[in-house]
Amino acid sequence: MENVAFIGIGSNVGDKIENCRRAITEIGQCKENHLVAQSSLYKTEPIGYTQQDWFINCVIEIKTSFTAYQLLNVLEDIEISMGRERILKWGPRIIDLDILFFNDEIIRCEGLTIPHPEVQDRAFVLIPLCEIAGDYVHPLLKKSIAQLVTDLGNGGGIEKV
Ligand code: ADP
Ligand code: MG
Repeated sequence: MENVAFIGIGSNVGDKIENCRRAITEIGQCKENHLVAQSSLYKTEPIGYTQQDWFINCVIEIKTSFTAYQLLNVLEDIEISMGRERILKWGPRIIDLDILFFNDEIIRCEGLTIPHPEVQDRAFVLIPLCEIAGDYVHPLLKKSIAQLVTDLGNGGGIEKV
């Protein structure tokens, strides 16, 4: 399991905490993956389409023998198995699994962008990530996660569960 990946997890439909936990369990149950660290769960305000319920968010670190593309496929399978339907970008979802970082790789393809392009703008990603990877340096921005949290400033709209 030579690769390290950080995965952002979110849910704002149904039993949100249980949805996040189930996704983490399913990710860890793949023999190719090994769960290394898990942030606290956070309750966060919706961004983008704001007329929707609040979210539960967290971040995990895994070691994996998958490539980034294989991991994306596995995460999509888990999303589908949990009943996710794609209706509205940024809209309500049972589960959202995003690859935030994959080693120090920089990937810009049709279906996969790594680092995830919105990491630096989202308190609900940066704050949980900082708990488990404050020293990780963003491979494009060349700043640590802790520095990006500071740069973002006001961490409103997010609180630990
Ligand atoms: P969002 O997460 O932006 O709200 P979706 O979860 O519906 O939206 O994702 C839409 C598409 O984003 C997925 O089909 C996937 O191919 C693509 N995508 C691009 N980069 C990534 C990434 N780093 N992690 C997860 N999905 C990604
Ligand atoms: Mg997503």
